[in-house]
Amino acid sequence: MPVFRSEHPDIALPTDITIFEWLFGDNSTHSPLNRFAEKDLAGYLDASTGQRISWKEVKDAATYISTALAKRYGFKAGDTIALFSRNSIWYPVTLFAAIRIGGVVSGASPAYNVEEMTYALRTANAKFLATHPTSMDVAVQAAKNAGIPQSNVILLEGELPGYSTVQELIAFGKSFGSGGQVPEFRLPDRMKNKDLCGFLSFSSGTTGLPKAVMISHQNVIAQSLQVQQLTTEDHTQVLGALPLFHITGLVHSLHLPIFINAEVIMLPEFSMEGMLSTITRYQMREVLLVPPILIRLVRDPVVDKYDLRCIKRFSSGAAPVSEEILLLLQRKFPGTGFKQGYGMTESCSCITAHPPNAYDWKYAHRVGKIVASTEVKIIKDDGTEADIGEPGEILARGPQVVMGYLNNEKATRDTFDDDGFLHTGDQGVIDTEGFVTITDRIKELIKVKGIGVAPAELEDLLLGHEKVEDCAVLSIPDDQAGERPKAYIVLKKGLPRDQPTGRQIMKYVEEKKVRHKWVREVEFIDEIPKSASGKILRRVLRDYAKQGVRGV
Ligand code: AMP
Repeated sequence: MPVFRSEHPDIALPTDITIFEWLFGDNSTHSPLNRFAEKDLAGYLDASTGQRISWKEVKDAATYISTALAKRYGFKAGDTIALFSRNSIWYPVTLFAAIRIGGVVSGASPAYNVEEMTYALRTANAKFLATHPTSMDVAVQAAKNAGIPQSNVILLEGELPGYSTVQELIAFGKSFGSGGQVPEFRLPDRMKNKDLCGFLSFSSGTTGLPKAVMISHQNVIAQSLQVQQLTTEDHTQVLGALPLFHITGLVHSLHLPIFINAEVIMLPEFSMEGMLSTITRYQMREVLLVPPILIRLVRDPVVDKYDLRCIKRFSSGAAPVSEEILLLLQRKFPGTGFKQGYGMTESCSCITAHPPNAYDWKYAHRVGKIVASTEVKIIKDDGTEADIGEPGEILARGPQVVMGYLNNEKATRDTFDDDGFLHTGDQGVIDTEGFVTITDRIKELIKVKGIGVAPAELEDLLLGHEKVEDCAVLSIPDDQAGERPKAYIVLKKGLPRDQPTGRQIMKYVEEKKVRHKWVREVEFIDEIPKSASGKILRRVLRDYAKQGVRGV
């Protein structure tokens, strides 16, 4: 029975050190601090203010903050701090402070509203919250709802009366001098770094509500090693445009750059002009983006104002990119190349990626080859294992496959099988050259601008609407966002199936959910197709969708 293996050499994976030791430890052969002179160390640079901190400064600041967290706030190993902020160079510093003393870091979208953030804090069991002045209103209310005292809410940047700031924590920690810093968390005897959760990231997986994915120290080390094998000399800078709370940002804009000593040019807020001027200003050769930004690169006239000939290669991930966009990109940026990664939060980013000898556009619509030390099985509809050329559900096993879902054994058992394979819910095919192509998505997931939206979350909300008897939400293509949610609604008896009712339902979602979850279309139907056990038959609905848009 075919199990497809990576063609790359296995990674040499350290199993008994933490990610902090691996990246910053005095004895770590992987740490840039031991491989480069201090003046050659890259770092995180804020593209809007020009403020920069090198890896050495990141380590020092994280050490002081961790001392302050432990001594002033009683932060202990295993405690969780939620990071709820736009991109900031102080985000990774605070993350490493918590990691240094065995803490867990939970990321959350800065676009969340109070309800969503409260859910995230409760699900992650967060005791601390680090945030940004721009997210303060939501942060304060959500912290209160989740029982986090004001004293445990810390500002990453700026100042506000009554709140501690990262800079204060640095000063406090520093006051203890070099001999007074709390020691780094070390793995106890016999514990491996695969058993130490460092990060929680939200994903709905293949079904249901968003869950907190437990990502181990080993997962991040493994993925960094796997991706490093595929990097080239152009990878000396990283465009920090993707949000750091998402797995792609967490790995590719936050951890990997330290390991490969690449400068991260961080964009605190995304704007097309801000991104383009940053690319030209720093003459960036490789840019990591998500499909909705690639779409804007070919469609937005503002792009023509910039000389982007510095770009040698586009890198994409987190969502599908259409062949049409690939063709337009290739035409608009002649002489460039393209690569993409495929994976999910549950695989700590990539399962497959393009190797350097496949950056040509002719390979672009495929999602690359299996990364090192990873195995893939493809399961056909009839439950048997597919051979080369046969489509089916992609299953993956490797050191980047995560620990499971926090406090959700059932979802963990359903997603990660006894043999250690992750069931991705994506359909794909592997070809004779070893490239994987994604052919369909069988799970319940909508990727809006590269960010996952769980249909179940919107269905739960819609069922609470006074006019809704039953509903189902699924993904429809969208020119700008890649995908958007569409709601199929069964109205309560006797209610008119008219446009005002449809709009009222859409407005109801808009009032309660963050923008990327807003329903783009509503269609009224007589009955939601369901299996005998009551499960929504999404395939049937998708067939309805293919038959044409009939929504309001
Ligand atoms: P997330 O956990 O938010 O990263 O979402 C993971 C899902 O995004 C995958 O299971 C796929 O459905 C989709 N995805 C990620 N990368 C790609 C890609 N390169 N091509 C197609 N779909 C992708």
